[in-house]
Amino acid sequence: MSATKDYYDILGVERQATEDQIKKAFRRKARETHPDVAAGPDAEERFKEINEAYEVLSDSSKRANYDRFGTADPSTSGYGGAETGDFFGGFEDIFSVFMGGMGGGGAQRVRTEGRDMTAQVAVTLLEAAKGVEKVIDLTRDAPCPTCHASGAAPGGTSKPCPDCNGTGQRRTQRRTILGVMESSTPCQRCGATGTIVDPPCPECGGSGRSRQREKVTVSIPAGIADGMRVRVPDMGEAGLRGAPAGDLLVEVSVLVHEYLHREGDDLHAMMPLDIVQASLGTTLNVPGLFGDEEVCVNAGVQNGDTVRVKGKGMPRLRGGAGDLIVHLNVQVPRKLNKRQRELLGELAETFGSKTGTCTPLHKIKDWLTG
Ligand code: ZN
Repeated sequence: MSATKDYYDILGVERQATEDQIKKAFRRKARETHPDVAAGPDAEERFKEINEAYEVLSDSSKRANYDRFGTADPSTSGYGGAETGDFFGGFEDIFSVFMGGMGGGGAQRVRTEGRDMTAQVAVTLLEAAKGVEKVIDLTRDAPCPTCHASGAAPGGTSKPCPDCNGTGQRRTQRRTILGVMESSTPCQRCGATGTIVDPPCPECGGSGRSRQREKVTVSIPAGIADGMRVRVPDMGEAGLRGAPAGDLLVEVSVLVHEYLHREGDDLHAMMPLDIVQASLGTTLNVPGLFGDEEVCVNAGVQNGDTVRVKGKGMPRLRGGAGDLIVHLNVQVPRKLNKRQRELLGELAETFGSKTGTCTPLHKIKDWLTG
């Protein structure tokens, strides 16, 4: 029984070791003794021992039980007997989650394929316009690297389950007044995976998937809009023992631009111009997403008028592009020098306009009548 083993000794740590120290010691030992790198007839056995020790000491409740009773789980006859190849305890946990409490049988569906996962990524407006590759840091249940998703320990075997002939489903026939009814239920022996592993992989407990940190590159297409999702096939949760994986759905948020505002495929920009430019017409250099755009402004434009530049907006996912819409902001000068005041005075005469600022006398009159 494994209770006689000293897990602390196996990992080479003190009994008071912190979680972090245990994790580091495990990584070091696992590297040294991994069957792919270590030679010697007992390398595999040592590797299993280290995994077993880590599984107990890295789990605070199992560790507490081990410290007190010399076993990780007082409710069973000793924890994880690697010698008997019985790591099925860990697998049953996974099993029961997917079975949703098996019991009466019936038509429960067991999910052996992995679920879809979601992730978020932010891109700038320029990146959204040009398309970009982003690398996402992802922690997921990935195909177990120790057993290459087979669920069998290194050197162990994986064979079709004899109870269900490798289908994962058991067919039962019942005679009813309507004839023979056939129904299928998930095979309990193999956890609906269709395979029996012996002994189960110590890293993943036989499920064929284990938690991994990975970097995933996702290709964001040009023209993506805020809130759209990009699907990365097979990068979701891994399936049980090599069953199909789910997909990774990456939700893209497009960051707000400094001066360009996006509406659908069109981009909007605000451009200031003075009263003389508005009166006489001008050419404006408008900073667009891909550089300056020369925009022709007719004489006599009003504040708030727009000029549309065809095809200079956001690229569309299906090809082509929206427009750049320039909003004209006619600005009246706040300060004038003497010469400018004279010129405008002359202009006023030609218009026959009455001009000039209010005097303090006007203000008193307003106050008296107000
Ligand atoms: Zn594994």
